[in-house]
Amino acid sequence: MTHRVINFYAGPAGLPLPALERAQEELLDFAGTGMSVMEVSHRSKEYDAVHEEAIALTKELMGLPSNYKVLLLQGGAHLSFGMIPLNLLRNDKKADYIVTGNWAEKATKEAKLVAGDRVRVAASTKEQKFSRLPHADEIKVGPDSAFVHFTSNNTVEGTQWHEFPKVGHVPYICDMSSDFMWRPFDVSPFGLIYGGAQKNLGPSGVTLTIIREDFLEMCEAQDLPSYLRYKIHAEKNSLYNTPPTFGIYILRNVLAYNKSIGGLKAIEASNKKKAELLYGCVDKHSGFYKGFVTEKAHRSVMNVDFFLPTPELDDQFVKEAKKAGMVGLKGYRDIGGIRVSTYNAVTVDHVKTLVDFMEQFVKTNG
Ligand SMILES: *Cc1c(COP(=O)(O)O)cnc(C)c1O
Repeated sequence: MTHRVINFYAGPAGLPLPALERAQEELLDFAGTGMSVMEVSHRSKEYDAVHEEAIALTKELMGLPSNYKVLLLQGGAHLSFGMIPLNLLRNDKKADYIVTGNWAEKATKEAKLVAGDRVRVAASTKEQKFSRLPHADEIKVGPDSAFVHFTSNNTVEGTQWHEFPKVGHVPYICDMSSDFMWRPFDVSPFGLIYGGAQKNLGPSGVTLTIIREDFLEMCEAQDLPSYLRYKIHAEKNSLYNTPPTFGIYILRNVLAYNKSIGGLKAIEASNKKKAELLYGCVDKHSGFYKGFVTEKAHRSVMNVDFFLPTPELDDQFVKEAKKAGMVGLKGYRDIGGIRVSTYNAVTVDHVKTLVDFMEQFVKTNG
């Protein structure tokens, strides 16, 4: 049996074992072609079936209404940070950005490069070091706003919008890189959703993008390089150029596996259980494990940040966990401490193993 660790990396991150095993089985002879999926034309009927299935599974799992298009792009969330204003903030259009973390700040900075002060900050919790989300009365959205951009899960700081921000009837654009498909939700207030696949859905190299038809109609700019135009990708069904075929194939495997285990409802239940176990342990030993997030209602189910009493103990924790077969626990460089990323592929049993380790660690070092 191959040796596998318990993977708590923040991204790229662990993938469901059955999705990898399927890839292993099919690697040398994909769909009877005598080739791997990496070696076959993206215009072949065998690849096309995978491409269509990845799109269909996204629609099915998320329950997307028919006025949404699924796009399989490249460039990660970073390219989307720029593509969004290039396509959607033409002429005098304005937008409001909610700044709740490292990634939200980057998205805002890139949008400002394109649209200057037509990109407004609706709220920011930078003064609180992003240790919480803004409250409803701290969010100011202009009546002339084309969209409100927010980051559904703040991967670095470990906060998450369990209830989406209240912004009147202005449509949302959302970076869901680190909590895409963690639970079912109503997509109808969203004009566009995007995220790199490498946290919750697959390998790096695929940017899953979901765009509503009226937002697609707003993308009328003819003077952008073709790759940057959402409209062209939509018209060509994400086959305008060579798509990242292997990444899309793995995404398909992950989504098919997600469906087989009961879809997003089952995944939500597992994610909530994991968070309950982890935060339960942190709260029980609050004199030893100190959470980074200051408001419990804002705690992320996907990234759990905490500190031990000293940086030396943080290091020792990471080292000993590694010896016990658990990797990826070191906190983000600007924050330090411990970050446990518990994306969809991390199982309840994995988290139980970590919590047992945490209990033991307090006993020995507390
Ligand atoms: C990881 C991450 C990003 C950066 O994604 P890239 O695919 O590397 O561009 C952006 N936003 C969030 C919320 C993330 O977690």
